[in-house]
Amino acid sequence: MAMMSHLRAILQASPCKTLEKVPDSEVHACKALQPLHLHLKSRNQVLHPLWEKVDLAPAGEHQSPINIRWRDSLRSWLTAAHHLFCLHVWNNGYSFLVEFEDSADKSVIEGGPLEHNYRLKQFHFHWGAIDAWGSEHTVDSKCYPAELHLVHWNAVKFENFEDAALEENGLAVIGVFLKLGKHHQELQKLVNILPSIKHKDTLAEFGSFDPSCLMPTCPDYWTYSGSLTTPPLSESVTWIIKKQPVEVDHDQLEQFRTLLFTSEGEKEKRMVDNFRPLQPLMNRTVRSSFRHDYVLNIQAKPKLPTSQVTP
Ligand SMILES: [Zn+2]
Repeated sequence: MAMMSHLRAILQASPCKTLEKVPDSEVHACKALQPLHLHLKSRNQVLHPLWEKVDLAPAGEHQSPINIRWRDSLRSWLTAAHHLFCLHVWNNGYSFLVEFEDSADKSVIEGGPLEHNYRLKQFHFHWGAIDAWGSEHTVDSKCYPAELHLVHWNAVKFENFEDAALEENGLAVIGVFLKLGKHHQELQKLVNILPSIKHKDTLAEFGSFDPSCLMPTCPDYWTYSGSLTTPPLSESVTWIIKKQPVEVDHDQLEQFRTLLFTSEGEKEKRMVDNFRPLQPLMNRTVRSSFRHDYVLNIQAKPKLPTSQVTP
């Protein structure tokens, strides 16, 4: 039982398998690129204890997080609707979770890569000890200082979140990168409550909070088939990663870093670097909801006559 509840706590902590380090070949490929890769390399040397053992689960081919290569993506669409409001916020010893009442379709996402409606269950964050890294996913090897995960489950196919989390097409997780910039007023409401959940297994009531205030205005996103990024690492997640980051200020991220992995009375260990190392893309395709002007620009091809314009 203790093990099950521990597993469930981690499961709820975040969507996210085996702990393969980035292969040497990828590290070499990184060196050919930019200083950003220095961050990526350093990031991969900061392993949470959870990721120090490689035998957590059998190897799979659809693991998360991954590095998104902009040029690989294809097109697709998503519509999202959030109307809603939260139950409580708690420290599960790996992140802090804002949980929602999910007995009805109060906040759902649909469309794009999703065949069904998915209900919001909880959201949480991953962040670094410093601002140079912290996100789980990376884009063209760029790390962000933090990443928000809004975890939704397929209430059409499954009875409850716990069942959905273990099965294919069970979950849809929206990932939003956080970058350093201006103060985020709505996020501050959440930041203000963090001192009351400093220790592992502490919980605070949180009243109403509409998570759509944490979403970027730009609708563009990437999507791919992946996994939970915490044990049991089930390959149950349709990932939807927003292209545009949201801005937060340094002090807000510093407040995240005052939380503890540890319970009251234990030797204090700061809650930082709570992300899983990157996983290989394997035989998967990342699709995007937008055109690849970035790629078109660098190709610098001569313009075609209008009658030959390609889609
Ligand atoms: Zn997560």
